[in-house]
Amino acid sequence: MFLLCLLPSLTSTVLTSSGSPATTAPTTCADCIHHDYCVVGAGPSGLQMGYFLQTSGRNYIIFERSKRSGSFYELYPRHRKLISINKRHTGRKNPEFNLRHDWNSLLSHDESLRVTRYTSQMFPDAQVLIDYLDDYQRKLNISVQFNTNIENVRTEPDAAMPDGHVFRMEDQHGHHYSCRTLIMATGLSEPNIPPMKGIDLARGYEAVSIYALLWLSAQFSTILSAWELSRGNAAFEVADSIYGNTILVHMVGRSRVRLAWATHYVGDLRAVNNNLLDTYQLKSLDGLVESRLEDMMLEEKNGKIYFTLNPEKQSLEEKFDNFAFREPYDVVVRALGFKFDASVFANKTSALSQEKAFSKKYPVIHHNYESKSTKGLFYAGTCSHSLDFRKSAGGFIHGFRYTTKIGQVTRAHSRGC
Ligand SMILES: Cc1cc2nc3c(=O)[nH]c(=O)nc-3n(C[C@H](O)[C@H](O)[C@H](O)COP(=O)(O)OP(=O)(O)OC[C@H]3O[C@@H](n4cnc5c(N)ncnc54)[C@H](O)[C@@H]3O)c2cc1C
Repeated sequence: MFLLCLLPSLTSTVLTSSGSPATTAPTTCADCIHHDYCVVGAGPSGLQMGYFLQTSGRNYIIFERSKRSGSFYELYPRHRKLISINKRHTGRKNPEFNLRHDWNSLLSHDESLRVTRYTSQMFPDAQVLIDYLDDYQRKLNISVQFNTNIENVRTEPDAAMPDGHVFRMEDQHGHHYSCRTLIMATGLSEPNIPPMKGIDLARGYEAVSIYALLWLSAQFSTILSAWELSRGNAAFEVADSIYGNTILVHMVGRSRVRLAWATHYVGDLRAVNNNLLDTYQLKSLDGLVESRLEDMMLEEKNGKIYFTLNPEKQSLEEKFDNFAFREPYDVVVRALGFKFDASVFANKTSALSQEKAFSKKYPVIHHNYESKSTKGLFYAGTCSHSLDFRKSAGGFIHGFRYTTKIGQVTRAHSRGC
């Protein structure tokens, strides 16, 4: 499986999106472990990619920084309930038809590996998916090297490679790896933090404890959750978990909330998370406000947090006689989504989108899932969702289990390997 690669001492090229690569000091690779394909990340998309690489007889390895597959679901969703449906009974025997209503299973020839066989819950507990992904990796014998955090990814010229370069990288133990084709399946893990004054007073969704909030909310009076109204499942999930215990939850976002049942996009607000809309529309104490967060600021006074207009950004001449945020809050939660973490590349500017619509959220990729800046670098899973963002389900398991397959087929077709 492993090939020792003896690369000549060449100039190493840092990945950039500009097409004008920076150069670093020459390195040697006498001790690096070579694979034709390296996949970074053993979340559901990395495992799905591993399955396709394995069944087509490729020489590959998946690197995973955690000690198990699907570690995303150890942390998220914070309230532990998946939003993908697990419909066990369809009245049909056609496996493709049934998969359409089973949004959590990965594709494989093994019929026992269906989440519908793991739980009867329509919206399963996140732990079910963790157990399932673990079984998927073990039963199908997918090659994952756990406890391996990949760093410093870069290219080095190599005339023997189809793209004229090889990918080089290291892990936290100082082991060196190289590969001809690199597939990033690292998800979206960097929290989106807006340039808002006082934002550090907010608790990030990524670290918020629902139990701690419940305890707090029983003791204190008010909670505000801030979110991007258009794609607010995470924020509404928090609100839904605590609103029975709080005096009120106020939510703020840039645009009008989009409901998945109206837009048909699964990333928009799902009915399973939207109870707070009822308490707001039926005149309880909760509320939704549309406002640009950049024009607002958070301020702490006497242990309370005030959500006010930022005088540097907005004229205070307009007087409000009934300002929605006149009372202070005890807790502010920031739940504004995630973006691709490019710090794995030697140059952090690498592969980040320059297109305005997905500003800095997704890597820029061609329709065959290959990076626009670096040949041989591909993306799989939720970090490749720019191709069908708001159009289809490529950001979710029931979408990328298929787009991963398309990526594998088009890659093989265009590269002849
Ligand atoms: C709050 C929330 C809830 C969601 N709920 C659902 C849901 O119910 N159903 C659904 O289908 N989708 C859901 N999604 C979308 C979800 O992100 C994807 O379904 C799924 O987790 C993405 O899979 P992935 O394999 O692309 O990425 P991830 O699951 O994020 O996997 C990436 C993997 O890469 C590893 N990794 C990252 N960097 C490195 C590195 N440098 N070296 C080694 N390993 C690395 C990580 O440890 C991780 O295991 C949710 C998203 C959010 C934000």
